[in-house]
Amino acid sequence: MEEIVREVRPCEDHGFIYVDLEALVSNYQFLKGQTRDCICAAVVKANAYGLGISEVAKSLTNAGCHTFFVATPAEAKELRSVNATADIYVLDGLFPQAASFYRTHNLRPVLNSRDEIRDWGHFCRTEKTPLPAALHIDTGMNRLGLGIDEIAGDNPLDSELESIEVALIMSHLACADDVSHPFNTLQLERFERCRTVFPETPASFANSAGILLGPAYHFDLVRPGIALYGSWPLNSGERALKTVMHLYGRLVQIRTMEAGESVGYGADYTLTRQSRIATVSVGYADGYIRALGSSNQQSPTCVAIAGHLAPVIGRVSMDLIAVDTTDVPQSKLERGQFVELIGDNISLDDVAARAGTISYEVLTRLSPRLPRVYKSSYSHS
Ligand SMILES: *Cc1c(COP(=O)(O)O)cnc(C)c1O
Repeated sequence: MEEIVREVRPCEDHGFIYVDLEALVSNYQFLKGQTRDCICAAVVKANAYGLGISEVAKSLTNAGCHTFFVATPAEAKELRSVNATADIYVLDGLFPQAASFYRTHNLRPVLNSRDEIRDWGHFCRTEKTPLPAALHIDTGMNRLGLGIDEIAGDNPLDSELESIEVALIMSHLACADDVSHPFNTLQLERFERCRTVFPETPASFANSAGILLGPAYHFDLVRPGIALYGSWPLNSGERALKTVMHLYGRLVQIRTMEAGESVGYGADYTLTRQSRIATVSVGYADGYIRALGSSNQQSPTCVAIAGHLAPVIGRVSMDLIAVDTTDVPQSKLERGQFVELIGDNISLDDVAARAGTISYEVLTRLSPRLPRVYKSSYSHS
């Protein structure tokens, strides 16, 4: 903890997000280790799930990752500015008129439709070179991609694909977090059927959860996102990943209040005993989800103060929360001190569940107001 706080600006920072890049790399190696020597790409869309695309990509590149997926062309451009050589795939595909932007920044569209394929093919012909792209096949998610009848049906894409380098075919699982869901095998069968149309082309099927479904789901390249960032992607099994994201706020005020007093907006929470209440400097404007607040009827979320748990009481305000520190030794409570809201003691997955959401949303809602502080993944020797 002291090592972390050294990097924080004590006069300015009301909290911070500590990103453990060593843990990130360890999770990357764990996921790659689940496969038999597949290419392990990394999904770094939405600013690497809120943690900072540049730092995350640099660490993963150093760990041997050469293929990245982002959602938008702007994300891809930002990634390209810190990595001149990686293969960068853009999941949103190809917006109209965007092909030369992709060429300028050496990006690969994930082509989702016949129209996108036609545009890319047309551009390749004007450039007189087959440029790489992925084909996204929709095997049941019904969100993005070419229908399986467009791939394996009577009207093949052969002529449209002539001018393109199809570097990857891919599809995305809808229910991979649920290991025994019958939809997983259904999508797998469909993907295998499409794959026979492109027997020589590398194939990619698995996100984080898909990797843990086993080798049948791995194909040539896997695409983990959330598990890199420390969230266990299945709804079962042992959480074998390291904590990457640690969210800290600070103690602003500590005072004793009597039984019968209420705390926070709406006077929703009434103290049942004399209590030592501390106010912490993080609220929903920082991305601390408002649903984490508690009334007397609910069992509250906790924060950790020097390893002691303290429940969050009353509503979450924009910039503040109240915690009950009656059971924390007084010697551990000092104004200005840092308090863990998510991290090793308070897990991201538990916080997400208590907020009625998923870890993805908790991570990507973390506000830019909180500085990101990085623990390097390189040795300092
Ligand atoms: C976001 C995304 C991933 C990564 O999914 P995780 O569940 O975060 O591992 C992989 N593939 C596609 C197409 C995605 O949109």
